[in-house]
Amino acid sequence: MLHPGQTIGILGGGQLARMMALAAAPLGLRCHIFAPPGDNPAFDVSAARTVADYENQEALAAFAAAVSAVTYEFENVPAATAAFLAERVPVMPGPRALAVTQDRFTEKSFVRDIGLGTPDFRAVDDLASLEAAVASLGRPAVLKTRRFGYDGKGQAVIRPETDLAQAWDTVGRQPSILEAFVPFLREVSVVAARGRAGDVAAYDVCENAHRQHILSTTTVPADLDGAAMHAALEHAARIATELDYVGVLAVEMFVIEDDGRERVLINEIAPRVHNSGHWTIDGAETSQFEQHIRAVAGWPLGSTRRRGRVVMENLIGDEADRWRAYLAEPGVHLHLYGKAESRPGRKMGHVTRVIAE
Ligand code: AMP
Repeated sequence: MLHPGQTIGILGGGQLARMMALAAAPLGLRCHIFAPPGDNPAFDVSAARTVADYENQEALAAFAAAVSAVTYEFENVPAATAAFLAERVPVMPGPRALAVTQDRFTEKSFVRDIGLGTPDFRAVDDLASLEAAVASLGRPAVLKTRRFGYDGKGQAVIRPETDLAQAWDTVGRQPSILEAFVPFLREVSVVAARGRAGDVAAYDVCENAHRQHILSTTTVPADLDGAAMHAALEHAARIATELDYVGVLAVEMFVIEDDGRERVLINEIAPRVHNSGHWTIDGAETSQFEQHIRAVAGWPLGSTRRRGRVVMENLIGDEADRWRAYLAEPGVHLHLYGKAESRPGRKMGHVTRVIAE
């Protein structure tokens, strides 16, 4: 267990690390950010920093010596980096969470093996196995690289007319999976935390709308049948427990209609704080960032109670230029990430509206 005054190390210097460091400060905890050179907005708000590549063992050893626990803001932490640090200092979430979630095939196999619903899927290693997978799952289907995909990158939809050789080129001829296309009604996510003692606290189910594969708005609570809502929360808790997870995780799900009833299928697990949980900063009693810090510190988890109906809107690219208008709107909470440069598709900030229920 950590004590106030101790330091948590965070791998990654983006907005998620920034919001974690901002949440750690009122608890009397310091954050030390480890990130490669580049635009690292988390540096602005943290007590210490290391600028080095994730493979730099000398820098990693010094970082491990300077902190009491390590966490991360992204799931693609190299396995060797996590293992190197874990020999020196507790790393949370642990290596199993990273190993399972870094690869879509391993992730979906894990979900299926613990008995939860996921879109039907096949491993694809070459054009011949892609042809076989399409023959088995039918069209439409979605081809995704096993690793390093996010916000729809490294994906190709296989439609009736799609040429498979071309689709295979689109994903860079990398190890991939083919998923059955899910005609979903809505997309939802569950953000939940698991403490070091195994206690789980989930936030209400979030409903997510995307634009060009990037999260655009999150509305809480989601519009979901009672039974499906209950199942979504159970599934997230089950996943956290099966992974022996410590910290906040997000489980993205598709809502489908099955025999006249709503059902959820698991699409993806993010072993970290998540964009669909940003609403909790202003809209819940404990933010997902504070909750993550509490879990990593070995402290009691906080209340996940909502303060009302909440809508979070991402500010992508030049949408953040409207900051003055948002400031003038009563009840709007503006969050800007302090990024040096705005680019199309880049998450620059978000706004949250909490509406009395
Ligand atoms: P992902 O990177 O897996 O989160 O996918 C990005 C987005 O693509 C999702 O949020 C969905 O809108 C869409 N998508 C992904 N997989 C499927 C699928 N199997 N069926 C239908 N739509 C999908």
